[in-house]
This record gives sequence, C-alpha cells and structure tokens, in this order.
Amino acid sequence: MIRSIVKYGDPVLTRKAAPVADVTPEIQQLIDDMVETMYAAPGIGLAAPQVGVPLRVCVIDVSGGRKGGEVIALINPEFVERTGMQLEEEGCLSVPGHNATVARPERAIVSGLNRAGTPITVEGTGLLARALQHEIDHLDGTLFLNRLRGVPRDIIVRKIKKQQRSGAW
Ligand SMILES: [Zn+2]
Repeated sequence: MIRSIVKYGDPVLTRKAAPVADVTPEIQQLIDDMVETMYAAPGIGLAAPQVGVPLRVCVIDVSGGRKGGEVIALINPEFVERTGMQLEEEGCLSVPGHNATVARPERAIVSGLNRAGTPITVEGTGLLARALQHEIDHLDGTLFLNRLRGVPRDIIVRKIKKQQRSGAW
C-alpha cells in the first residue's frame, strides 16, 4: 500500500524516532509499504517518519528500482564507521522541489536488522553512503536542510514558507 509522504513543517520529521522492539508482521508490512511508496514517488530512500511513523526503520534502493532485488531495509540502523568527504547535490521526498549541495562522509558502514530481523552490516560509498546518512538523519529528526550552511538553507526555507502561505505546499 502506498502511504502518503509528510512534508517539511510536519513535527514528526523533527522528532527522534524510537527503536523497534520486535520485528513483527506490522513492521514488515510497514517496510513493504515504504518500499512501494519510495518507488512510486519515485525516490532512492525513505525513512518511517516520512510516512508519519516515528520508528527507526528506513529503506534504500539507489537504483530507484530500475534493477531488481537491490532494496535495503534497515531496522534500528547504527553507524559503525564513517570516513572521507563528498560534496554532492541532495534532495528529499519531504522537501520536494528543493535540492542543495550537502557535505557528507564518502563512505559509511551501518549495522542494523533486515526485514527478517537478522543482523546485517551495509557498507556504502558515494550515493549509497549519502543515502544511508540521509535516512539515518531522518530517524534522528534531522533534514538535509539542517546540514546546510545558513544562507542556502534560509533561501530554501523562505521559498517553502511562501509555498505554505499560498497553499502550494
Ligand atoms: Zn529525506
């Protein structure tokens, strides 16, 4: 089932999400819905708070679903290691239409549980490393806008506020 994606301004996006205690069928359904929602958007990553669920769950497919079987589902993800630095343009399904260049570590290793509840470790460089960090940020209530320096962030926030006032957000 495709769920609706909440946008910047919704308080669920700024709260720290709670760890998942048990990988129940409800959590697995949430993951399946998130994958469907991510592909439909379309996007390459989605965190549970973005569908209004304040739990530490995210899904990533840097191919955007173009190649089969590449989706990564992570429950309670934690960074094991982050190294290097990359500077690339980034966007967010909860901040549609507003991209910006964000500095992130070039490589990330993350551990967590997969959809079956089995411990896994995911290692990514480049776009995958960026997606892992963007989605885990969501679980901590952080948007990519919070990673920008003052002026670029202020410009985007001002444009969004204008859209909100006109009812276009
Ligand atoms: Zn996002």
